[in-house]
Amino acid sequence: MDVVLYPHPSLKMTAQPVLRIDSILRQQIENMFKLMYATNGIGLAGPQVELPYRVFVMNYTGDAEKKDKEMVFINPIILRRGGKLVSGEEGCLSFPDIFAKVVRPERVTVRAFNIKGEMFTATFEGLAARCVQHENDHLDGYCFIDRLDENERRRIQKKLDKQVERYNAGETINKGVAKSSEEQSESEQAE
Ligand SMILES: [Zn+2]
Repeated sequence: MDVVLYPHPSLKMTAQPVLRIDSILRQQIENMFKLMYATNGIGLAGPQVELPYRVFVMNYTGDAEKKDKEMVFINPIILRRGGKLVSGEEGCLSFPDIFAKVVRPERVTVRAFNIKGEMFTATFEGLAARCVQHENDHLDGYCFIDRLDENERRRIQKKLDKQVERYNAGETINKGVAKSSEEQSESEQAE
């Protein structure tokens, strides 16, 4: 499992609903957490690892030891956005080294399924609310650079051009924490 870099086409696609939470998906989610921690992220969405499904993982503490803060969002729907509009710096594992200010509502209420297939509704504020909105955007083919004002966009343009070169050179981010999905399903069959 690799994190793909912008402008990989996977980041532009609308992800499909998850129809079944099976052992393959659970393994993929586990790998997403591993990859997220290995890259110092706080969230990671399916399309970023070429998984075309509506799923993202989050641990807004970024601390792999804090398992109680790990959350899995399957088929999430943002029910409500509220509070003030706040500007905050965001980065993205698909845009290494690029950070920019994005304006988003400070509070969101989300309904989703967890990894056990149970539906939950939760309200987030601050960094967690920002992360949920950022990751949910990935499921609809949006990246944080699509949300920048003109100034921010202009400020990062050079870095973005450099990153397109890295992408064109075939670069992805793989910390060696997870096997590809093909290898995964083969090994599952072998068990
Ligand atoms: Zn992102």
